[in-house]
Amino acid sequence: MMERDTDILIVGGGLVGASLACALQPLGYQVTLLEAVAPRAAAQPSYDDRTLALGAASCRILAALGLWEALAAEATPIREVIVSEPGRPARVELQAARMGLPCFGHVVEARAFGAVVLAHLPTLPRLEVLCPFRAEALRHEDQSVVVEARNDVGERCTVRARLVVAADGADSAIRDLLGIKAQTHDFQQTAIIANVTPEQAHAGRAFERLTSSGPFALLPHQGQRCGLVWCVPNADAEQLLAMPEEEFLARATERAGRALGPLQKLGQRSSWALRQVVPASDQAERVLLLGNAAHAIHPVGAQGFNLGLRDIATLAEVLADQQRDGEAADPGLAAALDRYSALRRPDQQATIGWTRDMVGLFGSELALTRRARGLALGAIALLPPLQRRLASRAMGYRGHIPRLALGEPLLPDWSGYPS
Ligand SMILES: Cc1cc2nc3c(=O)[nH]c(=O)nc-3n(C[C@H](O)[C@H](O)[C@H](O)COP(=O)(O)OP(=O)(O)OC[C@H]3O[C@@H](n4cnc5c(N)ncnc54)[C@H](O)[C@@H]3O)c2cc1C
Repeated sequence: MMERDTDILIVGGGLVGASLACALQPLGYQVTLLEAVAPRAAAQPSYDDRTLALGAASCRILAALGLWEALAAEATPIREVIVSEPGRPARVELQAARMGLPCFGHVVEARAFGAVVLAHLPTLPRLEVLCPFRAEALRHEDQSVVVEARNDVGERCTVRARLVVAADGADSAIRDLLGIKAQTHDFQQTAIIANVTPEQAHAGRAFERLTSSGPFALLPHQGQRCGLVWCVPNADAEQLLAMPEEEFLARATERAGRALGPLQKLGQRSSWALRQVVPASDQAERVLLLGNAAHAIHPVGAQGFNLGLRDIATLAEVLADQQRDGEAADPGLAAALDRYSALRRPDQQATIGWTRDMVGLFGSELALTRRARGLALGAIALLPPLQRRLASRAMGYRGHIPRLALGEPLLPDWSGYPS
């Protein structure tokens, strides 16, 4: 049996776990990353065809982590966001140039992100990746946590760590092993995702149509393609997934309000059942939950990974501050975990709250609610200060803004992460 002693064990090497491994490098800790699925396996759940809209704060964090340079070639800037409701006049148009910004953020394919981060991990000197190993058991022992894992052929490994970070997704095994209960809300919706090519150039415009059966988004993507995210009631999903291409494209064109003319080419369709998972706590003794393990949310506001990146940047900052202040370098001290949770709670709670409210507000056919959402869109459309506030929140600037999101160094006299 393989045995390891490490400072920080990250369980889950998906979007969040792998990014965290990069963020922790300059702090001098020995880090171990445990991932259940082999990198090139078609079933790797985190690095799929999803197009991820990343706010400007997230792009800055990724730049600080040394990942943006390679990602930039794969990224498409979002210069305009257009939010509308079918059959209603109110429409919000946020233009980055009008706010003196080059863009609000970028769109990156999760698969491209996976390729970049997985190529980067082997260059990190204080990181060991154990993959494919699935964490199965956990116990506390002498100021540390021991995690047991197993691979597909039954080989076992044991990792002893001073801090365990659970980045093992919405169905987190670590969360279950700790007995942390999570509240799950099933939206009864399925997100259908695919790449489509519209007749007209997207010119950096992102469209979100808020319909009572679920939100519909077209995100600007490479090669004049758009990333389509179409949320529909579960009962409609199978039919849409099986529908002949031309019929699907015609339906999607209508749903898009013909925003970019007819949608002409369709990539592979895949689907996601949508639910919100929020645990009762984001920590236990020497354990933190991060990313989807701590908050899986509806994709309506494109906030899930953005939130996870702010978690990462804040954890790195808290640990750096602990070192700067001459406190023990033990990364699993309760004081550090409490500080992290306190800094992250407002952003997490607000994002979870408004994401769910948006699904509820736009999913209702009640006359009063329809009127309320018309008024809300109308007010935003008319009030530039409200637009700026909305844009800055969507870009990820809210609550405690971690230094990495501001482009500031994590540690004094520190020249940056290796790229
Ligand atoms: C349709 C859709 C569109 C989205 N669009 C956006 C967007 O535009 N912008 C945005 O910011 N977010 C978006 N999101 C959200 C984003 O995808 C998630 O926030 C993100 O995937 C969370 O990453 P994670 O690493 O926390 O979890 P996951 O992606 O679930 O990764 C978990 C990892 O842990 C591994 N693992 C699981 N169990 C174990 C174990 N026991 N031992 C070891 N490893 C384990 C898994 O193999 C996996 O690699 C979208 C989500 C959906 C569904």
